[in-house]
Amino acid sequence: MRVYADNAATTQLSDNAFNSMLPLLKETYGNPSSLHTIGQLAKVELENARELVAECIGANPSEIYFTSGGSEADNQAIRSAAAIGARKGKKHIISSKFEHHAVLHTLNALKQEGYEITLLDVYSNGIVKPQDVADAIREDTCLVTIMTANNEIGTIQPIFEISKICKEKGVLFHTDAVQAVGHIPVNVAELGVDMLSVSAHKFHGPKGVGFLYARKGVLLKNIIEGGAQERGKRAGTENMASIVGMATALKDAVDSLDETAKKVTEMRDYLINGLKNIERSRINGDLNNRLPGTLNMCFEGIEGESLLLLLDAKGICASSGSACTSGSLDPSHVLLSIGVPVEIAHGSLRLSISEYNTMEEMEHIVNCVPPVVEYLRSISPVWEKIVKEEM
Ligand SMILES: *Cc1c(COP(=O)(O)O)cnc(C)c1O
Repeated sequence: MRVYADNAATTQLSDNAFNSMLPLLKETYGNPSSLHTIGQLAKVELENARELVAECIGANPSEIYFTSGGSEADNQAIRSAAAIGARKGKKHIISSKFEHHAVLHTLNALKQEGYEITLLDVYSNGIVKPQDVADAIREDTCLVTIMTANNEIGTIQPIFEISKICKEKGVLFHTDAVQAVGHIPVNVAELGVDMLSVSAHKFHGPKGVGFLYARKGVLLKNIIEGGAQERGKRAGTENMASIVGMATALKDAVDSLDETAKKVTEMRDYLINGLKNIERSRINGDLNNRLPGTLNMCFEGIEGESLLLLLDAKGICASSGSACTSGSLDPSHVLLSIGVPVEIAHGSLRLSISEYNTMEEMEHIVNCVPPVVEYLRSISPVWEKIVKEEM
């Protein structure tokens, strides 16, 4: 049995999205900037896709800027706010310690350029306190950027409350909603955010495409200079097939949001019940405010990498954290940020499931993980030490 349980890293393209992409590759292959018929047919498809994704998040189509994915959208949002701030002499930015690297590394680059960055704590439940945001805002704060849902532990942040605080203080607010959109209700009008990042491949759309929502009135700065595509804010001939595939996938995800969440939550809770009694294990992040499909656990005395390899041999594709940190031996910055000790953070397992998974697959996971953990502990000097200390 092959079980794909790494949907927070990426998802399988849906059949609907795949089928909607094909005509753009072979028939309506024109450049939407061309004035002739085949170009204008592509232009219609482009604007239809824009309307569709705008509707899915409660935005106006003129507030949608297609990008190459979530990372680019994060970069552009943060760089835009930084540029707006600099013009008024405001160079302080607030974020959290457990953001995605697309946010953290952009902030690091800005730090080198003279900006001051405040990274807020997320506490043991993996949730930012709105009051901490309010307390951190200064006269010279130009941006607050806090993710909607964390990609490693799945915790959902109080975006509405944070957005309200930012509005009251006149500070721009951006949220990386890559893990949230298509999985939980996200409506920019209700949330009141200024900018929001989305990526298609996290909701059964294609990879390499996403969009940035920027509220009317927020002046974007170009990350990619060139032609006048995306109303002059993002150059480059549009990735037509992927944009249309994304719109199809998002529409499907939003239309079946409740049904999917129910199904996925049931499977996730089955995993929790089946794994939570493993000795010296912990579930990371708040149990209630979390994405339907994400479960992150730590098992003391073992290495996450070994666990992944042995699970892979049993057909289970999981992760030890984010796809970006796998391959490096540093423990996850997310787990460290919620206070998991370094040695325990090494033994982490992220299972992220989607509606394509089945209960039989969950049973397979629940049957495989405990004996694999037990085996790894039986050969682990760290575990031996833990057991000795206990006696
Ligand atoms: C996947 C992810 C990104 C990056 O999106 P890409 O489209 O892969 O560039 C950014 N933020 C979060 C929270 C993510 O999960």
